[in-house]
Amino acid sequence: MASRVTIGDVEVLLFIDMVPPAYAPLEFFPEVSEEAWGPHRDDCLEDGALQLYYGCFALRSQGRVIMVDTGMGPGPHATRGNRTGDLLNLLAGEGIAPDDVDLVVHTHLHLDHVGWNVTWEEGTPRPTFPRARYLAPRADWDYFTQPDVMERFPCIQESIIPLQSMGALELTDGEHSVTPEVTTLPAPGHTPGHVAVLVTSRGEKGVMVGDALHSRVQVQEPGWCARADIDKDRGLESRRALLDKAECEGLLVAAGHFRPGDQFGRVVRLQGRRYWQTV
Ligand SMILES: [Zn+2]
Repeated sequence: MASRVTIGDVEVLLFIDMVPPAYAPLEFFPEVSEEAWGPHRDDCLEDGALQLYYGCFALRSQGRVIMVDTGMGPGPHATRGNRTGDLLNLLAGEGIAPDDVDLVVHTHLHLDHVGWNVTWEEGTPRPTFPRARYLAPRADWDYFTQPDVMERFPCIQESIIPLQSMGALELTDGEHSVTPEVTTLPAPGHTPGHVAVLVTSRGEKGVMVGDALHSRVQVQEPGWCARADIDKDRGLESRRALLDKAECEGLLVAAGHFRPGDQFGRVVRLQGRRYWQTV
């Protein structure tokens, strides 16, 4: 089942495609000591492990269905305990068939965000969402298609290159207006082209932060950088800017990697400190 919010006239549905195995906190945030976790234990599981979720979104906007990222994909995924993705079933549960999707917007090109882009049958790729245009940040394309980088990220060959060959991929630069209600906002660092996705409708505003935030703990501790952040300094700058914007403009924030029930919230300030207030 999807969780949902509305931003003006836009309905935002969140689907958890897959729950990966939990991480040791030090493995995920390598520069954060065990002591620093002290006040944040409730952001971990009971055994102290850090659990992420692979959430992605479908927006219903002005008669169109827009996916924001496509999860980890069908699998089974050998690097994730052979777990499998469930997105297409979850979409069907909301009455959304692959054919209904008009656009796919990628926050970035890591494997847990591009997984359902392409379906492979007997060695032949086809777009899972056959009518959709797939949008990706050009700076990510430029980075991840370098031969030595592509070797380390097989998802590019599997889930991005075929779209380009089929003419379904569109590369975007800077702030890009996807529709009158949906805009991408550059938030680089996690990857070179990483974007957040801003929704504005009837005076209401919300933002999908992509991997600028992996865990709720980063709202209080924006300096905590994930091992996967390619440029940690830029990533930190982007995270701070997004948190400032979210707090100042009262944005509804959607974070696909947060735990279920926490994935929609607002950034609020109490006695000089920031907190995540679940919506
Ligand atoms: Zn991710």
